[in-house]
Amino acid sequence: MSAKIIDGKAIAAELRAAVAAETRRLTADHKIVPGLAVVLLGENPASMTYVKSKARALIEVGMRPFDHYLPASTSEAELLGLIAQLNADPAVHGILVQLPVPLHINPSKIFNNVHPDKDVDGFHPLNAGRLMMGRPALVPCTPVACIKLIKTVHPSLVGVDALMVGRSHIVGNPLSQALLNENATVTVAHTHTRNLPDYCRRAELLCVAIGCAEFIRGDWIKPGATVIDVGINRISDDGKSRIVGDVNFAEAVKVAGAVTPVPGGVGPMTIVCLLVNTLRAACMQAGLPAPAV
Ligand code: NAP
Repeated sequence: MSAKIIDGKAIAAELRAAVAAETRRLTADHKIVPGLAVVLLGENPASMTYVKSKARALIEVGMRPFDHYLPASTSEAELLGLIAQLNADPAVHGILVQLPVPLHINPSKIFNNVHPDKDVDGFHPLNAGRLMMGRPALVPCTPVACIKLIKTVHPSLVGVDALMVGRSHIVGNPLSQALLNENATVTVAHTHTRNLPDYCRRAELLCVAIGCAEFIRGDWIKPGATVIDVGINRISDDGKSRIVGDVNFAEAVKVAGAVTPVPGGVGPMTIVCLLVNTLRAACMQAGLPAPAV
């Protein structure tokens, strides 16, 4: 048996087209151009590449990027001052502070000061609380991406036996909550979990976000299960460097019913879900219904 490969690139392309169509409608009907401010501190080359690709992605769907490149020496007070300005700017519907931030900046303090309605990263405690209570919320982009990918295989998650391996605030916690809100039966595993393979073998839906290269083995996977691999790990073999997930893909593909590849699975969907969140934020701030994406 060979699993269906969940093609994140193709699904992301369809979603991007839908976001572009909804954005055109919002601009034509209400003269609103969704705007996203991305703040980057320092000159980390990977972060600079991410910020540039986000700006390109925004422009492609008719949104407006506001990029703020600040020196790594920027004080916390200066950064909070910029965030206050962006909170008050009606052209800015979403605010994202690119991680990682320099060590003298407390990320929680920054996230707590982004207005919850502009919190497209979904890191503000109010949005985390709303998600937990099953209320409309801005949810972190990666869990939104995972749910959209999962729904291509399971249009309904009611009663599905799901295991979330990992409990970070960025991925594992909000994804397990989002699965619960879909009425899946959710178990969360972490570094203190005993007998992780046994929990994995029981899951019809196995989501993994741990940051350990190819950690989940094929014989841990229930035959026919859906596997969502969030991990992005750079490894080198034979002197060549490549990106792999948290799941051993070559083994998983022989056992699972459907599996996301790395790269080309969750990653391409995540950036499009940032566009979705920016569009949602713009509609919410204008008092309009949530967009159909
Ligand atoms: P993180 O903050 O380091 O959290 C890792 C979580 O995994 C923790 O809850 C940890 O448990 C758990 N964990 C680690 N090793 C484990 C093990 N051996 N067994 C069971 N649980 C284990 O990481 P993250 O930010 O969630 O990211 C996870 C991975 O996803 C990384 O590879 C990251 O690069 C990738 N990622 C991808 C995207 C994307 O768009 N595709 C987005 C974000 C992150 P404890 O809580 O007990 O420590």
